[in-house]
Amino acid sequence: MTLTDQLNRPLHDLRISVTDRCNFRCTYCMPATIFGEGYRFLPKSEVLSFEEITRLVRILVPLGVRKVRLTGGEPLVRKDIERLVGQIAAVPGVEDIALTTNGYFLPQKAQALKDAGLRRITISLDSLDNAVFRALNGDRADVSDVLAGIEAAERAGFAPIKINAVIKRGVNEGSVVDLARFCRERGYIARFIEYMDVGNVNGWRMDDVVSADEIVALIDAELPLEPVPPNYFGEVAQRYRYRDGGGEVGVIASVTRPFCGACTRLRLSPEGRIYTCLFATHGVDLRGPLRAGAPDDEIAAIVRQGWQRRADRYSELRAAQTAPREPKVEMYYIGG
Ligand code: SAM
Ligand code: SF4
Ligand code: SF4
Repeated sequence: MTLTDQLNRPLHDLRISVTDRCNFRCTYCMPATIFGEGYRFLPKSEVLSFEEITRLVRILVPLGVRKVRLTGGEPLVRKDIERLVGQIAAVPGVEDIALTTNGYFLPQKAQALKDAGLRRITISLDSLDNAVFRALNGDRADVSDVLAGIEAAERAGFAPIKINAVIKRGVNEGSVVDLARFCRERGYIARFIEYMDVGNVNGWRMDDVVSADEIVALIDAELPLEPVPPNYFGEVAQRYRYRDGGGEVGVIASVTRPFCGACTRLRLSPEGRIYTCLFATHGVDLRGPLRAGAPDDEIAAIVRQGWQRRADRYSELRAAQTAPREPKVEMYYIGG
C-alpha cells in the first residue's frame, strides 16, 4: 500500500545532505560572516557513514523512495563520495540518482562519479560575470573554476547538464539573460530559482526576490519563450521552450507559486535526522536507533509514522505567516 501523508502526498524522493561543510560561502546560504573560522561544523563521528546512509536508502525504498539526490553543503567535499554513489546506485528499486554541486571539484571527480553510476548532475552557477559571482560565493571561486567543472561533467558524459542559478534582486538579475543564452548555446538546461527564505541567517526579505514571472519576462524579451507542460506530477520547475526550437529553460517559483501540493520529498541531514520540509523546524533522529542496533523494520516504522503525520506546506502558508516561528533548519544542512 502506498504510504501517504496528511495531504495525500506519497513519498517518492529522498534528498541526502552528505555534509554540512562547503568550500563556498554563498551569501544566500552560508554567509561568511556567520560561517567564519570559528564556526563549528559537525565532527566526523556525528556524520552518517556511507554504510549507514546506504542502509537507510535500502529501508526507504519499500516506503516509496525511487529518486535519490545527493546534496549538502557541498557533496564533493565529502571524501570518496563516488563510493556512496556506487553503493546507492546498487540498491534495488532506486531508479534515479542525481547530485547537486557547486562544480568546483568536478574536474577531479566527474569521471569517477559517472563510472560509479551517477545518472544526472546539476551544477550551480549564479552569474557569468566574475565580480558578481565572487560577491555571491563569498570570494571563494571564479566563474572559470565552475566552467571547468561543467566541461569536465560534459566530457564524462553527463547529459543534459542542468545549471541552477539563484536570482537575488539588485545582485544578479542582470545575469539572467547571459546565463540563459550560455546554457542554450551549449545545450544545458538553465533553472532559475527564486531566492528563498530558507534557514535563519541569510537576512531574506521579500523585496530581494525576483519573481519567476519577472525572470521569464527578462528572457522572453530577448529570446522568445512558450510554456511546456510538466514532465511528471510534482515537477518542481515550470518549463518553457525557446520558440525557435533552441532548447528549454525552467523557473522554480517556490516563493511566488508554491508547489507544496505535489511535494513528495523527504530530506536526510548529515547526522541522520529526517525532515519532511525544507522549512522544517524539527527533524526526527534515525542515527540513534541506527547506532543502537535497531532492526530495519523499527527504523522503517519511525519514517512511516513521520510521513503519515506530515502536513507541511510552508511555502503555501508563507504569505499568511504573521507570528514569529521557531528557527528553521539551515539549507546547507538539509540540502536544496
Ligand atoms: N553546494 C551545492 C550547490 O551549491 O549546488 C549543493 C547544495 S546547495 C544548498 C543546493 C542548491 O540550493 C543550490 O543550487 C543553491 O543555489 C540553492 N540555494 C541555496 N540557498 C538558497 C536560497 N536561499 N534560495 C534559493 N536557493 C538556494
Ligand atoms: Fe555551498 Fe551550495 Fe550553499 Fe553555496 S549554495 S554555500 S555552494 S552549499
Ligand atoms: Fe515541500 Fe515544504 Fe517546499 Fe512545500 S515548502 S514544497 S512542503 S519542502
